[in-house]
Amino acid sequence: MASELVFLVFAKTTLSDSQWRDLPREIITILEDAMGAERNEGPSSRFLEEGRVLELSFTTSSPPMTLKECAVFCHTSAMELLEKTHQVEVVMQPGKLYSLHKKPGLAVFDMDSTLIQQEVIDELARAVGLYDQVAAITEAAMRGEAPYTDFEASLRARVALLKGVRTSIWAELKAGTITFTPGARELVRVLKRLGWKTAVLSGGFTPLANWVKETLRLDYAYANYLVSDPDLNILTGELVPEAPIIHAEHKRQMLLQLAADNNIPAEQTIAVGDGSNDLLMMGVAGLGIAFHAKPKVQLAAPTRLNSSSLLDVLHVLGFTKDEVNDILEEAPQP
Ligand SMILES: [Mg+2]
Repeated sequence: MASELVFLVFAKTTLSDSQWRDLPREIITILEDAMGAERNEGPSSRFLEEGRVLELSFTTSSPPMTLKECAVFCHTSAMELLEKTHQVEVVMQPGKLYSLHKKPGLAVFDMDSTLIQQEVIDELARAVGLYDQVAAITEAAMRGEAPYTDFEASLRARVALLKGVRTSIWAELKAGTITFTPGARELVRVLKRLGWKTAVLSGGFTPLANWVKETLRLDYAYANYLVSDPDLNILTGELVPEAPIIHAEHKRQMLLQLAADNNIPAEQTIAVGDGSNDLLMMGVAGLGIAFHAKPKVQLAAPTRLNSSSLLDVLHVLGFTKDEVNDILEEAPQP
C-alpha cells in the first residue's frame, strides 16, 4: 500500500541552491534508514515561498505513518542534526491529512503568547506592582508544587492577588501594552476568507479575549471570567463561580464542541498554542501546532513551528505565498 508523506522545509536563513538541491535527498535518506523502506517514489518538490519554504512530497511503499509517528521522526537525532546543519525547520504530515487542509475547517488559537505576544496575567500584575508574587505562583505551578499542582488552583491563587485592581486596567492594557503576534491579523483574515471558523480559547480573561475576538473578527472567544465590583470598579480577586474554568481539558472539549456545532470533522481542525495547557486540544485537532512553544511542549506536540510570523501556519496548510497574497488582497481589513 502506497502512502504519501509531505515535508515542509522552512529556512531560517538564506540557503544556497546546492543546499536546496541536497535537502530533499538527505531527508528521504534519513526516512528510508528509519523506516527500512525498500521501494519509494519521488520526491517531488516545489517552493511555497521561493527560497524560504519548500514543500516536499514523497510516496513510500511502507504502511501509512500517523501524524504522531511523523512527530517522532522529526525529533530523531538525524533529523535534528539536519535541521541544525542547514538552519531549517521541518514540518512533516501524512499526505492524506495535508490534502484535507484545502477544505475550510475550524482553527482554534490560544491567546497569551500565541495570538498576542504577552501573558495577560503577568501584565496585570506588573501594572499594579505584583509581578514577583504572581510569577512566584506561576513558577511553583510549573515545578508542580502543592497546592498549585493543577491549573485551577494556581489560577485562583494568582487571581486572588489581583483583588483591588482598577477595572480601567483593561483599557490601559489594550491601548499600550498588548501587541498582536506578527501575522496574526493576516492569518485570521485569510482563514476567514477561505471559510474557516475561528476561535480563541484562553486560560486568560474575557475582557482581553473578547477584545482579541472583536479586533481579529474571530467567530468565538472563551476565557475565564473575573468578578469586578460595579460600584468601586475594582477586581474582587475572584472568578465568577458559575463560569467554567478554561483549562487544558476544557480547551480540548471546546474544540470538539465547536467542530461538532459547525459540522466540521475533527480532522479538519487545527489548534495553535504555546503552552502545556494547549497540548490536549492539539492532540484532538486534525493538526496541532506548537508555535514558539517551550521545548517540552514542542517535543510533545504533533507539529511545531518557530518562524517569525503566524502567517506561516498557512504554509503548513499547503498554501503558497502567492495564493496567500491574492487572498489578502481580496479579504476585507478588520
Ligand atoms: Mg499561551
